[in-house]
Formats: sequence, structure tokens, C-alpha cells
Amino acid sequence: MTTQTGTYLRYFRNIGIAAHIDAGKTTTTERILYYTGRTHNIGEVHDGAATMDWMEQERERGITITAAATTAKWTRSGEGQEYVVNIIDTPGHVDFTIEVERSMRVLDGAVAVFDSSQGVEPQSETVWRQADRYGVPRIAFSNKMDKTGASFELVINDIRERLGAIPAPIQYPMGQESDFKGIIDIVRQRAYTYTNDLGTDIDEHDVPAEYADKVAEMRSQLIEAAAEVDEELMLMYLEGEEPTVEQLVTAIRKGTIEKKIFPVLCGSALKNKGVQLLLDAVVDYLPSPLEVPAIKGRDEDGNETEFPADPSGKLAALAFKIMADPYVGRLTFVRIYSGTLSSGTYVYNASKGKRERVGRLLKMHANHREEVSELKAGELGAVIGLKDAGTGNTLIGDDDDRVLLESIDVPEPVIKL
Ligand code: GDP
Repeated sequence: MTTQTGTYLRYFRNIGIAAHIDAGKTTTTERILYYTGRTHNIGEVHDGAATMDWMEQERERGITITAAATTAKWTRSGEGQEYVVNIIDTPGHVDFTIEVERSMRVLDGAVAVFDSSQGVEPQSETVWRQADRYGVPRIAFSNKMDKTGASFELVINDIRERLGAIPAPIQYPMGQESDFKGIIDIVRQRAYTYTNDLGTDIDEHDVPAEYADKVAEMRSQLIEAAAEVDEELMLMYLEGEEPTVEQLVTAIRKGTIEKKIFPVLCGSALKNKGVQLLLDAVVDYLPSPLEVPAIKGRDEDGNETEFPADPSGKLAALAFKIMADPYVGRLTFVRIYSGTLSSGTYVYNASKGKRERVGRLLKMHANHREEVSELKAGELGAVIGLKDAGTGNTLIGDDDDRVLLESIDVPEPVIKL
């Protein structure tokens, strides 16, 4: 593979954050945008007020936090590699079930946020089933660990019992409720204690003695679960050999992408605890666009074509959200599956049977918009200037064979209360 065929995509994660209303989706998303904010160096912020100020300003300007897709950058702790994390907005309310399904179509992985004092609530269950239908790999974030009644075990048990999924807790909280102090990473056997309210001063240390037995027990259960999905790990397990951190991460990643296991993390978005570790887990366990099945299209004769994520391939893009912007007018949010969409060119809207001109292209960041000349396979952004494109429409190259991407129309919306 040359770079042209998209090796940059290894460092892309297109994710959604899904939750029951009130579980903390907005707070978690805001914190993620804060920590990934390009012009906000968290090292320069000295008190909690700065975070809040910035969020308030954003709210007043009312733009990007609610953008259909926000592009953020994250450098994984201790690695130095920069990742592009596109956060696709998934509506949380049950009334928007069809909208949720539409957004599921364009993401490669999701973070399911749960309120740890409530466990798995009905709407979370609905969203989880939708993610199942669309084959979306997930990690779970047990939020509100600081709240009265918070229980990490409750979330883990509910994932097993109410969702019928296999939870793989990769963290353990140090203290719960008002005593919630930090998080232990079971995979790496490291502990993180938060020493300020911003979550920027994190003291990394050995697992405290009082948690040693619990962590050892959870780690062997994790290895056992990971061995079930990874042959190499299974052989080591049977030989009684201890896997390295890398081997364990690789196996959990494989299990997550195959939707056989679901890593469970914990934290408190409100108290800024666990959000950076959550971003690390997004990078570690959720798939890049190269690791998900290629989207399929059908031509008028019913012949099927696959569109692997390749920027030099034929253009195949899906419009997934139309928004009216007070400054620039109609914004069409698109995901590019294959090929490259360039500003000033013509595309063919295969759903409407119309040729359309692509105006300017934008990438939405947490605190600014960036005008770009092209959007490549795997990327998401907004197009200005498309007059006819509607949600769910397929955009292809002007001269290409007329194909329609897999439909995102939902035959029978699952509305369950
Ligand atoms: P959404 O409806 O899922 O988007 O939830 P929000 O992010 O708006 O949060 C709902 C409520 O829960 C708000 O009052 C938040 O301040 C609160 N909340 C969010 N995260 C936490 C948390 O980690 N701990 C506590 N105690 N409250 C939280």
C-alpha cells in the first residue's frame, strides 16, 4: 500500500457518542472538545473558570458544539501520534430514533455513555440495539461516578443482563460517589489520581495496595475474555504465559471491532475525571475507517460494488445531515467513503438524478471552521452550495456509473419506551 491508498486513515476515528437523555452526553462531548481543542493548550489553563468560559462562549455563539460532525485532534497519552477524531452528533432523544439510525450509518464506532447511578436505561437500550443493527463497535463510559448512588458494578451487570453483551471492564474506579478520586487502568496496571478540578493535573502511579487483589482478579478475567477472541492470546493463556500490554490491547481491540466484547470505562465528565483516558481508549479500541467493512453501492441493474476507503478511488459520499447556517446558508454534512471531493467540481446526486456543483468545503472544529479544498475518503465535513442534496443522498463522481449507496432509510423504526 502506498500513502495514496489511505494509510493516513489508520489515525482516523469516526465516532458517535450515544446515551440516554441526561446520562451526560453533552457534558462528555464538551469535555472531549475542550481537551482536543486545537487552540486551547490545557497546560496554560489554570483554573476551572477558563473551561467554563470557553464553553459558555461556544454556547452563546451556538455553533460547533452542535455541529453534525466536529473534527478534533488527539495525541494519545505517551505515544506522540496525533489522531483525528471526528465526532458525529447522534440525537439522544427517542423521538429522533430515525435520526439516530441515520447517524449510525456514518460512524465507525461509538461511545455509549451511561449514568452509573441509573445503570442501563430504556433509551440507552434502544440506541444500543440500533448500534447492533448497524454493526457499530462500542466502548461504554460509566459516567457520573461522583454522584450519590453511583456504582460501576451496576453498569457492568446491566450491560451483561439488560443488553446481553459481554462487558470487558478495562478500568476500575478508586472510590465512588463523593469519594471518587481516580481511575485504575486494568490493562496497564497503572493508577491515575486527579489532583485538580480541571482534570489537567493527573498523578500517574502504581496501583495502590488496597486495590491490588481486585485489579489482579479483574485483569485475569479480562485476559480470559480477550483470549476467547484472539487465538494467539488463547495459546498463551493455556500455557500460563502472561501477555504483554500490547498483546492484550490488540486482542481487546479485535474483540471490540468484532463486537464480541465491549470495553467498559468509568469517570465523571462533570468533574473532569476520565475524559482523557476515554479518548485514549477511543484510539486504542475503536476501528479506523480501514477496519470496518467497505460500504456497498448498487447500480441501476442491481449490480453491487464495494467502495473501500481509498482517496484515489471513485468518489462515493453520503449526505447525512442538512443544516441551515445563519452565515453561509445551507450546509450539507457529508461522509466521504471513497475518492476525494474537491471544491468547485461537479458531483452527481444519484438519489435525485441531478448534477450538482460543489461550492466551498468546511471542516468544523470545536472552536473554528476551516475551509479546505478537498475532503478525502474517511473524512467528514460540510459542503456549501449543494442545492438539492437531502439527508441520505448518495454523491458520486459526475462521470461515474450511477450507483446508490446502501440505503439509510429505516423500514421499521424501533421506538421503544
Ligand atoms: P445529556 O442529556 O446526556 O446530554 O446530559 P447532560 O450532559 O446535559 O447532563 C445532564 C445532567 O447531568 C446535567 O445536569 C449535568 O451537569 C449532569 N452531569 C453530567 N455529567 C455528570 C457527572 O459526571 N457527574 C454528575 N454528578 N453530574 C453530571
